Amino acid sequence: MKTKIIATIGPSSDTPEKMKDLLNSGVSVFRLNFSHGNAGKFESIVKDIRRVEKELQKPVTIMQDLAGPKIRIGDLVDPVTFRAGDFALLGPKAPAKPGEVSWIPFTDNKILDNMEVGDRLVLADGTLQLMVREKRADGLFALEAQNSGIVTSRKGLALPGKSVKVPALTEKDKQDLRDGLRLGVDAAALSFVQTPEDILEAKEIIRSQGRNIPVVAKLERQNAVDRLEDILKVADVIMVARGDLGIECPLPSLPGIQKRIIRACNRAGKPVIVATQMLLSMVGSPSPTRAETTDVANAVLDGADCVMLSEETAMGSFPVETVRFMRWITGEAETLMAERKINLNLPEADNAPEFLSYSACLLADKSASVALVAHSMSGAAARGLSARKPIQPIYALTPVPAVVRYLNFSWGVIPVLADEGRKGHLERVEDFVDSFSGFKKGDQVVITAGQPHAGEETTGTNLVKIYRK
Ligand code: PGA
Ligand code: MN
Repeated sequence: MKTKIIATIGPSSDTPEKMKDLLNSGVSVFRLNFSHGNAGKFESIVKDIRRVEKELQKPVTIMQDLAGPKIRIGDLVDPVTFRAGDFALLGPKAPAKPGEVSWIPFTDNKILDNMEVGDRLVLADGTLQLMVREKRADGLFALEAQNSGIVTSRKGLALPGKSVKVPALTEKDKQDLRDGLRLGVDAAALSFVQTPEDILEAKEIIRSQGRNIPVVAKLERQNAVDRLEDILKVADVIMVARGDLGIECPLPSLPGIQKRIIRACNRAGKPVIVATQMLLSMVGSPSPTRAETTDVANAVLDGADCVMLSEETAMGSFPVETVRFMRWITGEAETLMAERKINLNLPEADNAPEFLSYSACLLADKSASVALVAHSMSGAAARGLSARKPIQPIYALTPVPAVVRYLNFSWGVIPVLADEGRKGHLERVEDFVDSFSGFKKGDQVVITAGQPHAGEETTGTNLVKIYRK
């Protein structure tokens, strides 16, 4: 149970009974997809999740997923069928000579102003590739289909790799974010992020509402992948959003992109989610395909913290079965990781916090300790341990409820709300080990903590200790 599972709530899973089943089957984070609704729709769902959370007595994280600026074509009178070599016209108004070729209504001036002859354009979830061949005097663009396909109304449009500066937060997103904070969501995911400023803008809104919740950057544009290092500096969690990313990037490059993103996130100590089509066939079938099973296992072996389910739990016929299967696959992959000991990779950066977490994991491994127990105010120390992928479970004690829910994204971490009865952080951890029924007398654990000087409120982690119960 180290890899975290995120399940999207939808008509197949929006009752308290189903939520309970999903949580008992291994879900840590519920995703509310604001592409399909607003606060009005999710208010009662949030209340139900909180009720179930109390009943099960385990922290549940609610991730609000904002729709973002998905670019879409307008309404077509009839679906347009293309064969390779066919032409169509794209633009705001119908051609003067109707019936000449098919017209695809599209009114986004920002995109149209940036479109040039020679650009590659993809429609309908990447299934149809077109080349921009001509910019006509009437403002329409002539497009040539590169393959066969069908386009229907309001389908997504993308210009792969083209950097058209569209802010990740639309007016609806800003309103949804404020409403989500009012409902009490624990994390906000931003779609179609392109720059670090997109994240900072969301953080500013969160701060202005007097809250501090993690921001998840959904990487679904090539230019976001290109700026990963800068985005990683400000984002709290990263999502490899393979649905839209697979439209922008050629599919064969997707596995490599996934692995590079995961590696960068592990190095930065930031949790990373692999999303979309993980067990898609289970929408209609009680068991997955071999390829899907292998894909989920490989995401874990790549170093993903979380694996995410979308349609599978939102509108599939087997939401609970899907989560159980996912849990089974991730468990097998974790066993393989433990056998291989591919973990505990030496930190690449020369800095004390990374070597401290590395040493703690090494010590746990060499001293036959049953667990790592970290006291952490921000959760960073626990994330540092998690990024090394130790075999032992990581108990993360923090007095901050928001940090408990943030740590639900981190591989191998069991977040615990710390009892603030004891002032000293080390004593707090030792009290926890002594009283926790999961540890037997004589069990040994490795503790990390930031033990402040008298008069200091907090400090970074400065202590690693072997402790016997
Ligand atoms: P979405 O994001 O499901 O909100 O589109 C995930 C993805 O694109 O993979
Ligand atoms: Mn997407």
